[in-house]
Amino acid sequence: MDKIEDNSEVNQISKRLTDWIKSKKSPPYQINMYFTKQCNLKCKFCAFSPLIEKKYPSNELSKEELLRATKEGLELGIEVWYIAGGEPFFYPDKLLPMMGMIKKHGKYGNVNTNGTLFNREIVKDIVSMGWDEITFSINVTDSKTEDFLKGEKGAFKKCIEAMKLIQSTKKEMNKEKPGLSIHTIIMNKNYKRLTDMLILGHSLGVSSMNFTHIMEATDYVKKLKLTNEQIELFKKEAEKAFLLSKKMKIFTNLEKYISSPLSDEIGNYTNILKSTSITKDSKSLLSAICFEPWTQVTIFFDGTVGACGVWPCTSLKNENVRNKNLKDIWYGEYFERIRERLINRESIDTCLDCASSRIFKNEEIKNNIRKIMSEENKF
Ligand code: SF4
Repeated sequence: MDKIEDNSEVNQISKRLTDWIKSKKSPPYQINMYFTKQCNLKCKFCAFSPLIEKKYPSNELSKEELLRATKEGLELGIEVWYIAGGEPFFYPDKLLPMMGMIKKHGKYGNVNTNGTLFNREIVKDIVSMGWDEITFSINVTDSKTEDFLKGEKGAFKKCIEAMKLIQSTKKEMNKEKPGLSIHTIIMNKNYKRLTDMLILGHSLGVSSMNFTHIMEATDYVKKLKLTNEQIELFKKEAEKAFLLSKKMKIFTNLEKYISSPLSDEIGNYTNILKSTSITKDSKSLLSAICFEPWTQVTIFFDGTVGACGVWPCTSLKNENVRNKNLKDIWYGEYFERIRERLINRESIDTCLDCASSRIFKNEEIKNNIRKIMSEENKF
């Protein structure tokens, strides 16, 4: 399958949702495999670091369990596979067979990494299997600040070298894939330096750059958050960077930060979601404050299943792929109860921690469904 462009992704998700609206249940469009909490770095902005710091017991899925869950997801019909951690390349012996299985089934795969654990052999393997995309976490363009944020001297240099190695290996092997992208967390260390990030991304041949607000996972994160005044300056910088990204032909989500009031409301998503729902009076899927539990599923490191791209809902008894087939979980009671809550315009406990880019996507999807339904004269 070729790279899924943002538009067609929104279309495909909207079609699956339209099926649900017509009482035809459909499989998830995307799965997020957060299969390990282990990481070689100690990033100060990491949402997973509290889990790692608490040293959860080593109850992560074994290689066999992980591959079984992957097989179940492929049989269920999931198209887009997003792998993250922890650091996925901490366990190449689990990661690479999973990636290979996903590509053998012709599905789209993206793996998110800090870029410090690559070697020539791993890179060759990834290029040979035709993996679609690798997203590198980079937040600033100077090694001193980036190493400080990531808690390790040399982290920035290793990441840049890995990206260059991938690009040169693709050339040697005459391959187009994987495409490279960058993920940047917006914080007070970089909010005025977005154009620098674009210039760096361009020099490394990336095709897209995604910017998200920081999630408050640790006390230290509070020190990195933008003040209201900084948010205003960030918007101006985002405007400049967006124009540059157009010239450079790099896809970014920066436009959303310029035009949407959502960027002023970090940490207050639930109210925004309620106010932007398609309809407020119907008890149908159209009134849901978020559509992710109809289109996305997440498997966490210990096999716990989450009903969207964020955390598992803690107020309900969780399901686990160790005990149940993923298909039975997706069409079972846990998901039904969460979907019912969202339709009734109630959030789940995880919504308060939701990342902004998801909300933006939900909004686009809502508009698209509105179009589809109005074309069909059903809305
Ligand atoms: S946490 Fe975010 S993605 Fe998950 S249901 Fe709530 S709003 Fe949707």
